[in-house]
Amino acid sequence: MKVTVLVGGVGGARFLQGARERFGTTPFPGNDDGGTSEHSVTAVVNVGDDAWMHGVRICPDLDTCMYTLGDGIDTERGWGHKNETWNAKEELAKYGADPDWFGLGDRDLATHLIRTQMLAAGYPLTEVTAALCNRWQPGVRLLPVTDSRHETHVVIADPDSDDGARRAIHFQEWWVRYRANIETFGFAQVGGGDGAPAGGKAQATKAAVAAIEDADVVFLAPSNPIVSIGAILSVGGVRAALRTTKAKVVGVSPVIGGAPLRGMADRCLEVLGIETSAQAIGEHFGARSGNGILDGWLVAEEDSGVAIDGLPVAAVPLLMSSPQATSAMIDAGLELVGL
Ligand code: GDP
Ligand code: CA
Repeated sequence: MKVTVLVGGVGGARFLQGARERFGTTPFPGNDDGGTSEHSVTAVVNVGDDAWMHGVRICPDLDTCMYTLGDGIDTERGWGHKNETWNAKEELAKYGADPDWFGLGDRDLATHLIRTQMLAAGYPLTEVTAALCNRWQPGVRLLPVTDSRHETHVVIADPDSDDGARRAIHFQEWWVRYRANIETFGFAQVGGGDGAPAGGKAQATKAAVAAIEDADVVFLAPSNPIVSIGAILSVGGVRAALRTTKAKVVGVSPVIGGAPLRGMADRCLEVLGIETSAQAIGEHFGARSGNGILDGWLVAEEDSGVAIDGLPVAAVPLLMSSPQATSAMIDAGLELVGL
């Protein structure tokens, strides 16, 4: 079975651990083949969080997936390397270098240095990611959704202004520096660049579009519905591919009992006036039989009352407590859409 998963960072990486377990793509076959001949798992990864910091290109969601699947993640923190040290960060702070609120670890820095060098040499992010994955052997194919810049920026009331003037800041600054705890008006994708038509927005890579079009099933991981899944959907070509693919498209709710698991997904939903509930998020994605993108919507047992016109819904345990538990969620998703 050809399986494609749209993912953000922590929630996405955990879901991929379950997919790797379910489809037997271990021991890690490397990034090129993405699995055994029987099954393959491809992740289409959000790049909305990507940013330049201290002259290096950071790709938080790609790295969270890569480190998690490559057994290099700090499991307590949920991001970055295990056994990390922070000497470079401390030295940068002594120079008064901005930004001072971003945790750039010494080990992590090596990844960013290689990525930045390869990008400067002209390699697209897709190829850079494949090269990094040669080391980490994630066992699934990790594809950035686009090779172009497609950053999520956030419109806020400028805290340094007396008259509430609006200003856009990078999502990382909103999330990490302000903990999303600041008056906020909306999100905007910033970018385009080389792969995009003149003046146009970022386009999905051919590989990402093909991963959606050629799959048997596409899962939306229980990632942040706005700044992870939403940012992927806003890349040119993704929504169209989901609308027309022969694959069944199954969404997995990131909220359990009306609350997100870790993180502040509720803040992002609130900004857009969407209730933090499996019902409202399911309606936001919508049924493919209508104008939406889903053929099935998996919600938590705690949210079993969810009902959406034209969209099959199943209520199952949605806590990703182990790859085995997540594998069972995936089985429930396959069953829901008759696979
Ligand atoms: P980020 O990019 O690191 O913020 O991670 P993602 O966007 O991939 O995932 C964040 C979302 O994962 C949050 O909204 C959480 O509610 C959700 N999440 C985390 N753990 C679980 C879990 O065990 N089950 C479910 N259903 N959702 C989870
Ligand atoms: Ca993220």
